[in-house]
Amino acid sequence: MKKDYYEILGILRNASKEDIKQAFRKLALQYHPDRVASDKKEESEEKFKEISEAYAVLSDDEKKAQYDMYGHAGINSHYTHEDLFRGADFSSIFSDLGFGGGGSSIFEHLFGGGDFFGSSGGGNSRRVHRGRDLEFTVNLEFKEAVKGVNKTINFPSYKECASCRGTGDKSGKLSTCSSCQGSGKVSTQKSFFSLTTTCPQCKGAGSVVANPCVKCAGIGRIRDNQKLEVKIPAGVDDGSVLRLTGKGEQGRKGGGPGDLYIHINVKPHQFFKREMRDIILNVPITCMEAILGAEIKVPTIEGSVKMKIPSGTQNGKMFRIKGKGIPDPRRGGRGDQLVRVFVEIPVNLNRKQKKNLEDISRDISGNSYPEKENYFRVLKNVPLD
Ligand SMILES: [Zn+2]
Ligand SMILES: [Zn+2]
Repeated sequence: MKKDYYEILGILRNASKEDIKQAFRKLALQYHPDRVASDKKEESEEKFKEISEAYAVLSDDEKKAQYDMYGHAGINSHYTHEDLFRGADFSSIFSDLGFGGGGSSIFEHLFGGGDFFGSSGGGNSRRVHRGRDLEFTVNLEFKEAVKGVNKTINFPSYKECASCRGTGDKSGKLSTCSSCQGSGKVSTQKSFFSLTTTCPQCKGAGSVVANPCVKCAGIGRIRDNQKLEVKIPAGVDDGSVLRLTGKGEQGRKGGGPGDLYIHINVKPHQFFKREMRDIILNVPITCMEAILGAEIKVPTIEGSVKMKIPSGTQNGKMFRIKGKGIPDPRRGGRGDQLVRVFVEIPVNLNRKQKKNLEDISRDISGNSYPEKENYFRVLKNVPLD
């Protein structure tokens, strides 16, 4: 059960904006991982995430209204976890409290480098401007996984702003930061020693947007629905992950895109089963086909093929059809289809049919049943009671 946001911050439901902010400030001071003993770090990180999420939601009018009306369910159905933090103003609180980097570094540490601050996010290299990796699950039919398929996927994302070519600057390129001459670091003389810190002007990137692009407000990317055709290679297995380099979210200020990860989910087939590179299929045959031999039709993923059943085939016998298994997308080649026959005993026979079978049965001697003969020869001296 997820805890109530008001409870987490220790405030009443009618708390004012200022109350919410004050409550968060107080708790942030207490639980900020920079402030606690190392053995308490993990615990306080959890707590810190919890209070940050509560604050992010309750400090935003729209999210707060959703939460007040529908609780966590309303939040979950409207926002991703990262959306919750988008637009929330942590920077001013953290710099008030005297934590470095406007507080964003702690967020990158706790939440894995997410982009929670929009264009105000800090950091000390271009890497922090890189777009997020995106994940997507694609559901495939058994046959699609074996043969490969093209899938079109739609997802909300950011695309590069065309008018500034993703840089955020009208001119299409970034300017060297004048404070640090592009090094990303500045030195200050403090009596006896000099202190080198991340350049506050460019936040370590070494370059700045001199004339912000109007189309994207200097960020370099625009929110957009992406439509992407993904070629799923033949032979992918359930649970495998495809990585499409550079197809993730566009970064900010020329930071480059993230990657797109496609998780493959293969629906099980009613009859075909996959085992490594082979396909296993159980096929029913009649008693007579097993006794007399026959040529039967067997379905494969490529359509049906003819298969010979030799006379005297036993129940459960496995036959191999070469090359009708699953292609290996990495090494090439493909597996086989293994056909396991099961002999179906006829039911609903009439009196005449049974009579005919009895006549035939009397005619077949013990040496037509070597297994049975052997079985009772071996067990002859074992007392049955
Ligand atoms: Zn700089
Ligand atoms: Zn732009």
